[in-house]
Amino acid sequence: MIDETHDATRRSWVASAQGSDFPIQNLPLGVFSPTGGPPRGGVAIGDQILDLAQAAASGLLSGEALAAAQAASGATLNPLLALGAAPRRALRRRLFELLSDGAQDQARVAAWLHPAADCTLHLPCAIGDYTDFYAGIHHALNVGRQFRPDNPLLPNYKHVPIGYHGRASSVRVSGAPVRRPNGQQKAPDVEAPVFGPARRLDLELELGVWIGPGNVLGEPVPIGEAEAHIAGLCLLNDWSARDLQAWEYQPLGPFLAKNFMTTVSPWIITAEALAPFRTAQAKRPEGDPTPLPYLMDEADQATGAYALQLGVLIRTPAMRQAGIAAHRLGQGPATNLYWTMAQLVTHHTVGGCDLRPGDLLGSGTISTPDDSGLGSLLELTRGGKEPITLPNGETRTFLEDGDELILAGRAVAEGFVSIGFGPCTGVVAPAPQA
Ligand code: CA
Repeated sequence: MIDETHDATRRSWVASAQGSDFPIQNLPLGVFSPTGGPPRGGVAIGDQILDLAQAAASGLLSGEALAAAQAASGATLNPLLALGAAPRRALRRRLFELLSDGAQDQARVAAWLHPAADCTLHLPCAIGDYTDFYAGIHHALNVGRQFRPDNPLLPNYKHVPIGYHGRASSVRVSGAPVRRPNGQQKAPDVEAPVFGPARRLDLELELGVWIGPGNVLGEPVPIGEAEAHIAGLCLLNDWSARDLQAWEYQPLGPFLAKNFMTTVSPWIITAEALAPFRTAQAKRPEGDPTPLPYLMDEADQATGAYALQLGVLIRTPAMRQAGIAAHRLGQGPATNLYWTMAQLVTHHTVGGCDLRPGDLLGSGTISTPDDSGLGSLLELTRGGKEPITLPNGETRTFLEDGDELILAGRAVAEGFVSIGFGPCTGVVAPAPQA
C-alpha cells in the first residue's frame, strides 16, 4: 500500500537522513542500547536511532501507533511483530509525521534520538526458529553443475520449495566475529576423515524474512494470506563450511557446516517500507511446471518479488592495513529467486507447522545467471579451483582468518527514494584450539 510515507519529495529535519540507507521513507525497526542503557526498540533515521520506549512514554503517540511503540519498548520486537501490519503502519505514519521537515514538536522528538555510533545494536527478535530455503535458482544450478554437469537441478526443485530447519541459537547480528568451526573433513582421495579447522569457509548471500503474526498448529497459511505474516526483510549471511558440508550432508542435509553461525543485518526493513519496491515474480522459463495450486496466487505472482540490488564485498587484513576499501565481489538483483517469500511461508506451513512472531526464514543463496553477482565463493572460485585476485594482488579461494565479509542491499524504483538495509558484516576469527 503506497501512502504519504513513500512521497519522494518529503525530507526529514534529521539532516543525515537524506541520501543515507535510512531516509525518512525507510524507518526500519531494530533493537539497540544507548550507552549504559538496557536494550529497547528503535527506528533508524540517518545516523541516529529514535528510541521507541521514549516515544511511547512521550504522550505524542496515540491509538495503534502508541500500542505499537509500547510493544517495541522491551528488549525484543517479538511483541510488535505479533501485532501485524496495521499498528506497524500506524507507528510508521506517525513517526514520519514527527520526523518530517517543518514538524511541530521537533525539539521534543529530538530528545528521543541517540547517535547510532554511540549505540550497540542487537538481534531485533528472540528467534524461536530459523529455516533456510534454497530458492536462488542460479545458485542451485551453479552448485549443481559442479557435481552433476548434465543434470544440475534435482527433479524436485521446480515443484517444491527446498529447505531445511536451521539453528536459531547461533544467529547473530552484524558485526559479531565469525569463529571458524572445527569439524570432520574427508577429501575424496583419502580413506578416513580428519578433524580440524574448516579450510573451505564460505559465505552465502541471502535475504532474511522476519515473520510477523504466526499461525496456529494444524492451520496452514493460504497463499493469498501469506503476505500478512511477513513483517519485513533483512540481509542474511548463511556462513558455510564446505568441507564439513561435503562429508556430512548425506543423507539428511546440512548440519555442523551451517550451525556454527548465521549473521543478519540489524534492521527489519518493513513490508511497508518495501511497498514501492515490489515487482513481478520472474516468469518461469518455457516448459517449467506451474506451481501446484496451493502455491499459486495471481496477486503474488504479479507483485511478490522485490526490486533490490544485493552485493558482496570483502576486505582482508592486508587491505585494511593498507587502507584499501572493501572490494566488491559481485552485485545482482534479488529477483533471481524461483519462489516468492509468500510461497516460502505457505509451503512452510502447508503440513500444519506453526510459524511464530520473530521466526526467521532465509531465502537461499541469491546468485546471478552470469558471473556478475555470485552469492558464494563456492561459485566465484568454481569450487576452489579458480582463485579470485583482489586489488592488492592477494588471492582467495575461501575465507581466511581476519577476512571481513560485507553484504549490502538497496531498494531502487523509479519515482521513489532509494532505501538501504545497513551492512551485514562479519570478520573471520581463528578456529578454537582443536
Ligand atoms: Ca543457505
